Amino acid sequence: MKKKKIAIIFGISGQDGAYLSHFLLKKGYKVFGTTRNKSLKNLYRLKKLNILNKITLFKGEATNLKFCKKILSSKINEIYYLAGESSVLKSFESPHLSLNSNVNGLLNILHILKKRKYKTRLFNAGSGQFYGDNKFNKYNLKSKIDPQSPYGVSKAAGYWLVKIFRKNYGIFCCTGVLFNHESSLRSNEFVTKKIIDISKKIKKNKKLKLELGNINVYRDWGWAPEYVVAFWLMLQKKSPSDLILGTGKTHSIKEFVDEVFKLLMINKKNLKTNISKFRRKLDIRGYKADIAETKKIINWSPKVTFKKIVKKMVNDELF
Ligand code: NDP
Repeated sequence: MKKKKIAIIFGISGQDGAYLSHFLLKKGYKVFGTTRNKSLKNLYRLKKLNILNKITLFKGEATNLKFCKKILSSKINEIYYLAGESSVLKSFESPHLSLNSNVNGLLNILHILKKRKYKTRLFNAGSGQFYGDNKFNKYNLKSKIDPQSPYGVSKAAGYWLVKIFRKNYGIFCCTGVLFNHESSLRSNEFVTKKIIDISKKIKKNKKLKLELGNINVYRDWGWAPEYVVAFWLMLQKKSPSDLILGTGKTHSIKEFVDEVFKLLMINKKNLKTNISKFRRKLDIRGYKADIAETKKIINWSPKVTFKKIVKKMVNDELF
């Protein structure tokens, strides 16, 4: 019988960690994962996808080198580094936390792969948030890196470290430069989920208002279950390369709200915008991914459209 491949996901309890686990289990992998908190409340996404009892969990943090040394072995075929503070907003409140979790955890893994000369392959979750403010252009790997937040700085650092370890030590490691991808498993601190959650409350209580900051910012929104397939495809290539993962299309927060309000039949009077506490001084007004290279290299392009994403989220669909 063919031996099962083993994958370990750092940050398995998050949106992408849960979808990736589901995908890898279906592919016949043995799936391990790390979490700081083994409570059912924290692992709700794995439970919702019905896979909690199918994975092996290690409690700890990648920022702890001892912990990483203990759980990483030459038997592991693939590592996915998805752990760390993923909110831009929180990175302004706690920049140390963003830098530490997004950079030092990754660095520990790279360090171990270098020292132990494992053949293990590593995927790092990067972010389009390390590009600057540019409303009309698509971003590709040649675009200028010009972060507008501590989160963006942490993702730029991770991206460059992965490049350096790949070039200098021949490690099979690569970064997926991820543009926004959403799902019903998105946490409610992100604007898409917040819009849907509050709109559903408004449906029951017409007196409530949806309060937002600047709704004229544009994002490249994709459907998360499609993105984790690309993470995996990147590690199946003969040689590693960084790739941009996005849809190549852009929509404003206003369009997102309009779509949700239309689906739930909510009056526009229930929307209040430009609320100062939600406005960011530094922000990226808009961006979209240029995935021409990605299509060529891994033959991947997302299929779920913007309208479908909104509809699936409103209906709480998982896939
Ligand atoms: P989530 O926030 O849903 O999950 C990240 C996981 O990392 C959490 O479940 C948590 O697991 C762990 N984590 C959170 N904060 C810390 C911290 N301070 N220190 C250590 N671990 C922490 O993110 P996603 O699944 O959406 O994203 C996965 C990766 O992709 C992240 O690196 C994110 O920055 C990146 N990315 C995501 C995008 C998106 O649109 N989803 C876009 C661009 C990049 P636990 O509490 O169990 O330890």
